[in-house]
Amino acid sequence: MSFASFYDYLKHRNSGETEFLQAVKEVYETVHKVIMKNPIYEKHKIFERMVEPERVVSFRVTWLDDAGNVQVNRGYRVQMNSAIGPYKGGLRFHPTVNSSILKFLAFEQIFKNALTSIPLGGGKGGSDFDPKGKSDAEVMRFCQNFMMELSKHIGHRVDVPAGDIGVGGREIGYLFGAYRKMENQFSGVLTGKGTNWGGSLIRPEATGYGLIYFAENMLAEKGDSFSAKKCLVSGSGNVAQFAMEKILEYNGIPVTASDSSGFIYDEGGINSEKLEHIKYLKNVRRGRISEYVDKYPSATFYPRDKSLDHNPMWDIKADLAFPCATQNEINEKDARNMVNNGIELVAEGANMPCDNDAIEIFNEAGVNYAPGKASNAGGVATSGLEMVQNFTGSHWTSQEVDNRLRTIMKSIHDNCLTYAKEYKMEGNYQAGANIAGFVKVADAMVAQGII
Ligand code: NDP
Repeated sequence: MSFASFYDYLKHRNSGETEFLQAVKEVYETVHKVIMKNPIYEKHKIFERMVEPERVVSFRVTWLDDAGNVQVNRGYRVQMNSAIGPYKGGLRFHPTVNSSILKFLAFEQIFKNALTSIPLGGGKGGSDFDPKGKSDAEVMRFCQNFMMELSKHIGHRVDVPAGDIGVGGREIGYLFGAYRKMENQFSGVLTGKGTNWGGSLIRPEATGYGLIYFAENMLAEKGDSFSAKKCLVSGSGNVAQFAMEKILEYNGIPVTASDSSGFIYDEGGINSEKLEHIKYLKNVRRGRISEYVDKYPSATFYPRDKSLDHNPMWDIKADLAFPCATQNEINEKDARNMVNNGIELVAEGANMPCDNDAIEIFNEAGVNYAPGKASNAGGVATSGLEMVQNFTGSHWTSQEVDNRLRTIMKSIHDNCLTYAKEYKMEGNYQAGANIAGFVKVADAMVAQGII
């Protein structure tokens, strides 16, 4: 099928699901070549099958707020593809969550999980529940009611969710407690658990650390390093915090952080002490990034201005950029600003933070660009390591998990380059990641027949 007719077919079947269509288009543009070269994929309608979730569940979540009012939210689990392992992917709690966003995330997860070399299928779930501003008791009651339905669809050999935006250690704890009580079993049904109840050391750090390990490999490929490089980082949550921690360890200089209300620019650099303050603000106080300037007045807070067609944070002159907040945070105009300012490398910590126009601009300008499905795969890879520890009843040291994470990120990096070269797109991490992930899952689907 030509690209145009495939895209028409896709739009017709997934009308209005803009994020999902965007994610599929991005992958199809690079794997189309592979499908053309291997008629068996076309014959087995592999891509048409990959874009159709194996199962989607959507359910009502009813809970009581602290004032005794009944609240109603919507929960989901998208089980996208299990050809190479049990469904695996996070849960997102955010008011913007809908079926398009979860399908895009679950679709990306297929390729990302395949790249890790751990046998994991792709899935994603969540709810339009917003944990911001809710008490711990409200979050707990929501999680318990969410799990009451989700528990019917998951299992440690079926589907193993983890965290994502709005779902951190606190939420995983409440979700796990509810599952354990309902099912009367202690199993590794979720990852990101506390380290004294089945969690893996380094799992909280893994996505951010893995991102920087990946970027370190990209820089080394060009004979370069992090040393004294000014880094733009967006977000101030789990991924952003540990990305900044590792950047500092490698002698880079993070200068920005953000949340949904705006960003801070600290020209002098966010050092370890300042990073600890961000962690305190976001994880303990559950406050806003704007409060950073109360303690460090030499930095500036820029409130988010929705009337602008670009984000001024990406217009700050820097060497490297790590978008770690959310999807579509870098558009065409942002990308042009970054290129004009001489950005050397963009590695995605978030999922799909660069839209397709921005990626095209980076590719045209020769910016060293890494897609999230490769560069942020350290989180799910370490979740895979947590599953292995749960299955075998073992508990590895931080050093052991970190060494494995480092090795996995290097192997994903090298695999991207190998596949890009094989398909004559040398140095293109985007093409390499899509093709390597696609081929692995496609071959498994062919081998397993028409099901
Ligand atoms: P957190 O909830 O810990 O942090 C998310 C951060 O992004 C917060 O600073 C949040 O600000 C900001 N943010 C969320 N939505 C928006 C928005 N619409 N506009 C601007 N800022 C926003 O999530 P994570 O750090 O875990 O996840 C960040 C990204 O990384 C996501 O794309 C996620 O899918 C991806 N990812 C996460 C992995 C993980 O292991 N956690 C693994 C792989 C990818 P605010 O506080 O205002 O909401």
